[in-house]
Amino acid sequence: MLELPELETYKKLLSEQIINKRITGVQVKEDKLINSDTAAWSKQLQGREVLFIERRGKQLLFHLDNGKRLLLNLGAAGQIQLNGLEVDEGSHANAQVMISFGDQALRLLGIRQGYIHLLSAKEADQELSNLGPELLDRKMNLEKFQTLFARKRGMLKSALVNQSFIAGLGNGYADEIAFEAALLPSAKLQDLSEESIERLYHSTMTVLHDAIEYGGMGEERLNAKDDLTGGYKSHVRVIERDGQACERCGATIQKAEVGSRKTYYCASCQKEK
Ligand SMILES: [Zn+2]
Repeated sequence: MLELPELETYKKLLSEQIINKRITGVQVKEDKLINSDTAAWSKQLQGREVLFIERRGKQLLFHLDNGKRLLLNLGAAGQIQLNGLEVDEGSHANAQVMISFGDQALRLLGIRQGYIHLLSAKEADQELSNLGPELLDRKMNLEKFQTLFARKRGMLKSALVNQSFIAGLGNGYADEIAFEAALLPSAKLQDLSEESIERLYHSTMTVLHDAIEYGGMGEERLNAKDDLTGGYKSHVRVIERDGQACERCGATIQKAEVGSRKTYYCASCQKEK
């Protein structure tokens, strides 16, 4: 599960280790992940530095010192590792793309529907233009959130995971946010009062800030030094807790399909509005 908090965690850890380091080597084993032929792609990256890393929705954008961007989409189950060049052979052989920064190498593994594209600033903007607003952007506030949700109809969960409506959330955090807001994932947005939308806003911020602080729910650590990734798993209140007691009301957490998505919720203390 890779959603906003997991990618923020990777961004933080990667930023501590690869910023302003020169790219010294590029190996591409699966060229379907990149957006030009391997030789040209590798040559353009060679010798460049990463100035900073940005997260947009569920993607990472590496800003290079020549104005270009590397846009990384890990899909549902992709994995990043940052290790010394001398890692175990399995990981080395399985890397779909490997980018070396001196004695460190960034390895991409297990990416099925994702990609890593080298783009101009304009191309990157175009590729990201279908994303909705960022929830943690400085420009996001209660008023903007209310305006956005007041215009939207349909199920709460469907709206939360809709990347063109708001960017970064998936199945997991949508359920945690709905629980925090005491709203059912199937609640209809058109039925929500102004007060409920305000509660939803604060719940969204609380869940995201807590999840980032504890390192998200990711399964795969960046490297052996990464003691952050996955720390939020012991703080979740509904995800994969079906059959257990709700910590707010004591009823049993349930699992169901909502809008054809696996959904965890408490039918007792989460309400329609
Ligand atoms: Zn409950």
